[in-house]
Amino acid sequence: MLASSGCRGVDDLAITTPAEPTEVDTIIAGGMVFDGTGATGRSIDIAILDDRIVYVGEDADARFRARNTIDAVGLVVAPGFIDPHTHADTDLVSSDADRRANKAYAFQGVTTVLVGNDGFGNYRIADMASAAIESGIGTNAAWLVGFGAVREEVLGRVDREPDAAELAQMGALTRQAMCEGAWGFSTGLYYVPQNFAKTEEVVALARIATEFGGYYDTHMRDESTYNVTVTGALAETLQIGREAGLPVHIAHIKALGPAVWGHSERMIAMIEEAQASGQRVSADQYPWEASGTRISNALVPRWALEGGLEALRERLAKPEQRLAIRQGIEEAIERRGGADRLLVTGALGEVEVETGKTLEQLARDQGIAPADAAIAVLRTGDARLASFNMNPDDIAAFAAREWVVTGSDGSTGHPRKYASFPKAYRDLVADGGVMDMARFVRRSSGQTADIIGLQGRGYLKPGYFADVVVLDPESFAPRATYSAPEELSSGVVHLLVNGEVVIRGGAHTGQLPGRPLLKPASCAS
Ligand SMILES: [Zn+2]
Repeated sequence: MLASSGCRGVDDLAITTPAEPTEVDTIIAGGMVFDGTGATGRSIDIAILDDRIVYVGEDADARFRARNTIDAVGLVVAPGFIDPHTHADTDLVSSDADRRANKAYAFQGVTTVLVGNDGFGNYRIADMASAAIESGIGTNAAWLVGFGAVREEVLGRVDREPDAAELAQMGALTRQAMCEGAWGFSTGLYYVPQNFAKTEEVVALARIATEFGGYYDTHMRDESTYNVTVTGALAETLQIGREAGLPVHIAHIKALGPAVWGHSERMIAMIEEAQASGQRVSADQYPWEASGTRISNALVPRWALEGGLEALRERLAKPEQRLAIRQGIEEAIERRGGADRLLVTGALGEVEVETGKTLEQLARDQGIAPADAAIAVLRTGDARLASFNMNPDDIAAFAAREWVVTGSDGSTGHPRKYASFPKAYRDLVADGGVMDMARFVRRSSGQTADIIGLQGRGYLKPGYFADVVVLDPESFAPRATYSAPEELSSGVVHLLVNGEVVIRGGAHTGQLPGRPLLKPASCAS
């Protein structure tokens, strides 16, 4: 298949160990080094020249003259973390250098973010990459081609199937994005208009990613009981992977809402059966009981969102449709565990909403039902919600699996954007004792690089790029909360991206050494 796409194999990028120099830029000395393979930590040194690691071992100071030495005694040294699911797309192309620095992630120890997740984002990968080079970004970035962006470009936000010509056009856009360096094809089949697509349409487009050796990344059609249920959506995901012939990666794996609490057991069994039959399946998870969403996305029936929020407002003006929408909202509130589990964290559009209150409280203040309070917001705007819909037992069950890696799904108004990696560390290692540091580092770096297919990243090895985090295991912790979601995390003492220091002694240096990471592909024009 590689040959038919004219695609160059990734072997061309094979890592070569350079001849050992006598002078290096930086030695990170005496830290407890976890290399990303899952191996136990060793108290050794790392030497860096330009953007590469040139040495990992003992007594680096006896081998090299170093321009800088970072004393890492008592600290943990690990490959910079890789986040397979973010929504940092717009931060990275912001005109504000502070946003492009991607500090929310840097202070978690993250040196590479994936964007284009959930089927969102910009599929013009080459444009995104040149913008990143031109203006500078603080972490590396890698792209997925989003189904939603492609479908909306060709069909708009309508509920219908594409005809053959339209499907071909969507295929051409997907192929172009893969040619330009996307690592895979992402969907958010839960979201309008992606939810209007049948499984076969998704398979047809995912096959294009297969030709390029890419993977399928999905926010599944249902994480709850909205339509096919979470296990039905998982079955669809596995089917897409089998029929399109590519690895599948499940975004922010969860069982959303009381009706499916406990279903982690069945989901894990389905995934591990698929793996036993030879299918490649992985998932990422953020360590929070609340998801981050909006009133429209969480509560409004999908048919009522066809055409977007404006069309929704027109429907709300018609009494009969309003009644049906209201009923759907009531059901969705119930599905998510009740209005007291929906915390309003931000207003969107032309609407004033009190933040820091639950939908239940907002409704009580106005003397109306929660569904009507939601509709009142939607009349002129929308609101961000932290939706407390997960059960700790399900979270723990997923977290313990070997095929689950750390992710943030970082979005505005939710602490997960600023604190998922340190929170996972506290929950799973420092306070929880569920796994050791070596496993935590592996599921936050090397394993994730392998899932994506990144070459030369995710491990501390000679010849690899010098993306390195030096953290204090005592103080590595979240500071962001649901009521103050934009607090930078603590405990990352030093952070290097492509050999350049972006955090030194706990302070950001303002450097923007991040790079666009593009999947190698050569395509006939
Ligand atoms: Zn998502």
